[in-house]
This record gives sequence, structure tokens and C-alpha cells, in this order.
Amino acid sequence: MTKYKTIDTDILVIGSGIAGLRFALKAADLGDVLVVTKSSASKGATRLAQGGIASVLGGDDSFETHISDTMDASRNLAKPDVVRKIVEHGPDAIAELLEIGVPLDTVEGDEDALSLTQEGGHSKRRILHVADATGRAIEEAYIRAVREKDNISLLQNHCAIDLITRHHLDEGHPLKKEPVTCWGAYVLDEETGHVKTVRAKVTLLATGGGGCVYKHTTNPSVATGDGVAMSYRAGATVSNMEFFQFHPTMFYDPGGDNFLITEAVRGEGGILRNSSGERFMEGMHPRMELAPRDVVSRAIDEQLKTRGDTNVFLDLTHKSEDYIKSRFPNIYKHCAERGLDITKEWIPVVPAAHYMCGGVRVDLNARTDIINLLAAGEVAFTGMHGANRLASNSLLESMAYAQFAYESCRENIRDVSPLPELPEWDDTGVFDRREWVIVRHIREEIRSVMWDYVGIVRSDDRLEAAKRFVDFLYSQIDSFYRQNPVNRDVIELRNLAILGWLIINSAQKRPESRGLHFNSDHPEIDSEYAKDTDLISSLFQREKHLRDGYIGFV
Ligand SMILES: Cc1cc2nc3c(=O)[nH]c(=O)nc-3n(C[C@H](O)[C@H](O)[C@H](O)COP(=O)(O)OP(=O)(O)OC[C@H]3O[C@@H](n4cnc5c(N)ncnc54)[C@H](O)[C@@H]3O)c2cc1C
Repeated sequence: MTKYKTIDTDILVIGSGIAGLRFALKAADLGDVLVVTKSSASKGATRLAQGGIASVLGGDDSFETHISDTMDASRNLAKPDVVRKIVEHGPDAIAELLEIGVPLDTVEGDEDALSLTQEGGHSKRRILHVADATGRAIEEAYIRAVREKDNISLLQNHCAIDLITRHHLDEGHPLKKEPVTCWGAYVLDEETGHVKTVRAKVTLLATGGGGCVYKHTTNPSVATGDGVAMSYRAGATVSNMEFFQFHPTMFYDPGGDNFLITEAVRGEGGILRNSSGERFMEGMHPRMELAPRDVVSRAIDEQLKTRGDTNVFLDLTHKSEDYIKSRFPNIYKHCAERGLDITKEWIPVVPAAHYMCGGVRVDLNARTDIINLLAAGEVAFTGMHGANRLASNSLLESMAYAQFAYESCRENIRDVSPLPELPEWDDTGVFDRREWVIVRHIREEIRSVMWDYVGIVRSDDRLEAAKRFVDFLYSQIDSFYRQNPVNRDVIELRNLAILGWLIINSAQKRPESRGLHFNSDHPEIDSEYAKDTDLISSLFQREKHLRDGYIGFV
């Protein structure tokens, strides 16, 4: 067994998006903070957010209206007390953004008035933004602020593998039968391959979403659902995973970077066509291309499935060249760099997994049901979004829960019991079988199965087939994981399989269609299911299954 030194810190933050960084900045008042993050610090979804952040800032808007818009979008599955707490936090969050130097756009000619735009589902203008790159400005400002604090250390290229809980202690340890408590995490240094044991009084999970479980996604490559999978393995409750939001139009560019084609293109007259040139939204919905996102995504999905095509097209060629270049300069430039002139050619697009509404269940104070483990941001299931997320509510939710997590930490950190000695990472028995190609192939298989069977339109049969398939793949991955030195690819693959499995199981627990979850065998909403879907793992049950030779996992 290789031994590496344990790192002690007061507070461990896993993830460096808006949730992790805001929390770290505040928690620095309470002790030493260590932020670990996969890849480079700004690789998460925060940097990609274009539209903006929702907040009520007076005028003809009110908290009540924002709450009611959010509840409507959620198909009444959101929790009113949570929505209120988050919405009412909005003005404080915006004040902090200005304080740390985020250059929010102001009204032309009035530098004191913040510019507010409106997005689908919001009945008032309440979206604050920095041109069409709001997230980048926010991420950069928080990274700057965090770097200025002496007692915050930021470790990039450090990937958390597992939360450390009683499950890692030896049999017979006195804490083995105590309620599950988090004492930190095992973290892989991606550059050296060493696994560090990080011991902390309080851990914040801020690992973002998991769009990479689907073949097409707008998410960055780090979005592999690690936080959800780690928490589930440790025994936390994971909720509402069936509600995954798909964006109707991502640029179809196999092998290229994910690139969103904003809704505004359809708003300005863009026409959706199939490979025969037919305008397939005709007859589908009175608003055609401007139907709600889930309706447009389903229509595209049907075209792809029935025609066997890889993508549909968005046609702007009836607009003048000057207009296209001035109205959509970024899209024009991005496509031109890939050899496509959108003033003369149709843009290939596919719907893509965009936002994970479910996650690790937290209470109003950001506490998970594992002691000393808090969660904030997209990884957390707070109860804000219910069956559908309202645009621009997620940055607000991430900021609000970073604040609530800080308050919980402030209340409790002094009462944390002394931390036990933790076992070092044990890599006994692993050897490099040099079969890494398998990892890449299985990753693609999971993403394809999730796309084809558990995507925008689901059915009972497809869900059952997907479950069997993912179960089988997981057994392959698990044995690979146990026999090979750990690296980021295999960590992510194992997490993607668990994430897929959780989405499938949640979807099976909801035999109705509500918001983002559409099952063609149960196309109507059913009041019996107006409740959350909770999944809790039983490690002991899983261990028993493994002993009995069962190849899947529970
Ligand atoms: C293209 C796009 C546009 C969007 N536009 C908007 C918008 O306009 N408005 C809005 O409100 N929302 C928008 N969203 C959603 C919003 O950006 C995210 O929900 C939000 O940024 C999530 O913040 P976060 O801090 O939870 O996660 P992220 O910003 O994704 O950060 C997660 C961090 O965790 C790290 N991490 C993950 N796993 C591990 C691990 N195992 N170990 C260590 N580190 C790990 C990642 O590297 C990353 O640093 C958009 C999302 C996308 C993809």
C-alpha cells in the first residue's frame, strides 16, 4: 500500500463554480479553507452561463411575482418556503456581485440603473447580465476575490474520488455504528496520480451538474455528476433525478466544443427544418418554433428518432446577411470558424442536456442528511425547481445556497466532534492492465444509451432496457476500478454510470408526465405523483449483493 500524508483543514470545498467560490470566500472568516477542483478552476458551468441571474430589484416587480412564476414553471412541485427564501436573497446576492467587481450592464445613459431583461417564464424584467457572458464575469470576479484571501488554498487538477465516512473505518471501530458523518474526502492529484486524504471538520459539495451523462450536452466536460454519485455511495438521499432539462438547439458539431444556439435565433424568425427541408413545427404547436422549450425538444427528438437523422437544422437564410452578422455576431463567427456560412447555409442543431434539476437533498440550511456535509449549487436538490427550472434561477439558487451553507457552517463548526484518524487510500492489489480504451468506449455507450432510452421522451420498456444495460456496464466499470490505478477517467466513468442509474430509477418511480419528465406510456400528469422522488442507497445491501455474486448495484 502506498502511503501519502493526510492534509488537515477546517473546511473543505469540492468544486470552484459560483457556489463553491462564494461559500469559500465567506467561510474564510471561520477557519482555513481548502478548495479542490477538477481540471482548471474556471472549467465549470458557471463560466458558460450566458443569459444572466434573476433577481427582483423593485420597480413594478415583486418577490410574490417571482415566486409565483417559479412555482408555475415547476408544475407546483417546487417548495414555496425554499423558493421564497432564495428569491428574497436576490438583492443581497446582486449587491455582493457589484461589490466584488462584476460589471453588470446598466441602462444606456444611466449608469446607476442596472439593465434588466426578460426571459421565457418570467412575467417581469428581472434578469441581470453582463452582455451575453454573465457567468464568465462572475466566475472571474470570484476567483480574483478568493485568491486575495490568505487562508483559502485553491488546488486545481484535484479530483475528489469519495467522501470519507464511517464506511472507510475498520470493522470494530467505535464510530462504525454512529450516524454517517463526513470527515473529508479522498482526492486525486491529477498530475502526480497520488491520492491525498483530506480531513476536514465541514465539507461543502459544490460539484455542479451531470449533463455529460447524455450524448449531447451544453455542459462542460467536468459535469459528470461526481457529487451526486459520491453522496449516494456515502448514504445521502438523492432526489428528483428524472427532471433533466434539455435545451432544444445546440450546434451539432461532433468532436467540437459544446456551443449553444440561443433561443433568440428562433425568436428572430429562425425556422426549424428536417433533413428533407420540411418545417416540422407546423401543426405541432400554434407558436411553432417559439413553443415552450420542452415541446420544441420533443418535436426535434421525434424527427431524429423516426428519420434516423443525427440532427435537424435551424434556417436563418431568409434574413439579410447584414442583419445576421450584426444580430448574432458570435454565432456567425463560431460557425464560420467551422466552415459554415449561416447567411447561406442551415445550422445543424440537436437538443442537448442542459440542467440537472434533481440532486443531493438538502434542507433550508444547505445540510444534507450526512452530518457535516453541506451542498450548494447545481449538485444540490433544494426544492427550487420542481419539475422544470425557470431560466436564470440557477445562478441565483447557487448564490443563495452558498450563503445558507455558510450560515450553517458558522452555527455548527465549533461543535464538531474531534476528527478520527483516517485510513490512507488503499491501492493494494491494483495493477495497470492497460485496457484504458475500454473506459472510453463504455463512457460513449452510457451516453448513447441515456440519450436514446432515457432522454427527452421515455417509455416503460426503454427505461427497463436502459436499466439492465447500465447495471451491466456498471459491473464492468466497478471491476475495472478495483483492479487499476485510479485516474480521473475511471472516476468519472464510475460516477456517470451511477448518475445514469439514478436518473433511470427516478424516472421509473414516476409513471406520469410532468414538466421535464415525459413518458409516452403515461402521457398525462397524475396528482398521485405530486411529490418528490427520493433514492437512498444501502451500502450494506449492496455489499451483500456483491457477496452473493449479483453483478449490478442497488
Ligand atoms: C451553457 C450554459 C448556459 C447557462 N446559462 C445560465 C444562465 O444564463 N443563467 C443561470 O442562472 N444559469 C445558467 N446555466 C446554469 C448555471 O450556469 C449552473 O447551474 C451554475 O453555474 C452551477 O454552478 P455550480 O457552482 O453549482 O457548478 P459549476 O459552475 O459547474 O462548478 C462545479 C465545479 O465542481 C468541479 N468538480 C466537479 N466534480 C469534481 C470532483 N470530483 N472533484 C473536484 N472538483 C469537481 C468542477 O470542475 C467545477 O469547478 C447555464 C448552464 C450552461 C451549461
